[in-house]
Amino acid sequence: MDSFSESYAEARAKFLAAARDAGARIHSYGRDDVVGLAGEPLLCDVAVLGAERGERAAIAITGTHGVEGYAGSAVLHHWLTNRGRIKDDIQIVLVHAINPWAFSHKTRTTENNVDLNRNFIRDNIGYERQNPGYDSLAPFFDFDPTDARRALDAYRGYKAHLDRNGWHLENEMLEGQCDRPDGLFYAGKEPEWSNLLFRRIVTEHLGAARTIGFVDWHTGVGSFGEIVYLMFDEPGSAEHAAASRWWNRELQEKSAFKSGSTPKYRGLLCQSIRQELPDARIAGAVVEFGTADDYAIFRGDCLDRWVRFEGREATDAAQFREAYKDIMNPPDPSWRRMVLDEGPAVMDKLIAGVAGW
Ligand SMILES: [Zn+2]
Repeated sequence: MDSFSESYAEARAKFLAAARDAGARIHSYGRDDVVGLAGEPLLCDVAVLGAERGERAAIAITGTHGVEGYAGSAVLHHWLTNRGRIKDDIQIVLVHAINPWAFSHKTRTTENNVDLNRNFIRDNIGYERQNPGYDSLAPFFDFDPTDARRALDAYRGYKAHLDRNGWHLENEMLEGQCDRPDGLFYAGKEPEWSNLLFRRIVTEHLGAARTIGFVDWHTGVGSFGEIVYLMFDEPGSAEHAAASRWWNRELQEKSAFKSGSTPKYRGLLCQSIRQELPDARIAGAVVEFGTADDYAIFRGDCLDRWVRFEGREATDAAQFREAYKDIMNPPDPSWRRMVLDEGPAVMDKLIAGVAGW
């Protein structure tokens, strides 16, 4: 379990050590306007292995949703320390903590409460999205989630509302909103630091690639112990077929979402790879490790938001922040073993898939 860390600084040190041992070329992108939870400097580190500017490339990203990066970081560390020989005909780009402020502060969103995975709007213009689905559900998020009874009542109200009015509203809510800067799934008003940095990483390191595979590591969608592949290309497209083949997802499986379908997200980080490199063929997935049941995730998201705003000065805010980290990265050893068993295999299949596409 040594690949898991309890702080951003620990995760970063492990990643850099493992990347150096693997002979990776390391590029660090720091920021001087904000610091981490313990006052530490915040950097996104990129480790490049294999070909320098390969025609074929695989990219893995961690920490898009800050705190979810603890699992992704553990996967990269475990993969780096146990990898096989890397061939020279493929370039491998590992992005550690693309949203380092949120990784360090054990939260989902950026320092501006922006959900980075809703912020990558094409050309970075058009942050005006109305979201009536979100507006209809927002009253259910307005409670003190540190009170267990109120949290349960709020969830029951939320669920009853969706049972009555349709679970498609939950999908709409998840697609992102631009009107409530202190709300959930806030897409922001402009590109975040992490958005501009990721676009720079893509053009600097993948600019020569013509065939690209990606994995963006997340947690929270799916049941405890489940691995969910979210693919955003049209079923039937060459890109969807390729990614499905890499990870044996050809058979249609039950959706991880209660509505029965995946939300029509806009502004995903992975979509920006194609925005930046329109001439490359690109396939891949957001890969989620399920961590908890729907109630725990609902309460966790509300808790995370509450600690950022109403509960900022609460004496036990730090404990609730840890509680949120544990919801998104369970300390349960069986879960951590699953992540370390399955995650590196997903990486190997990505690399083999890109090499053979
Ligand atoms: Zn996520």
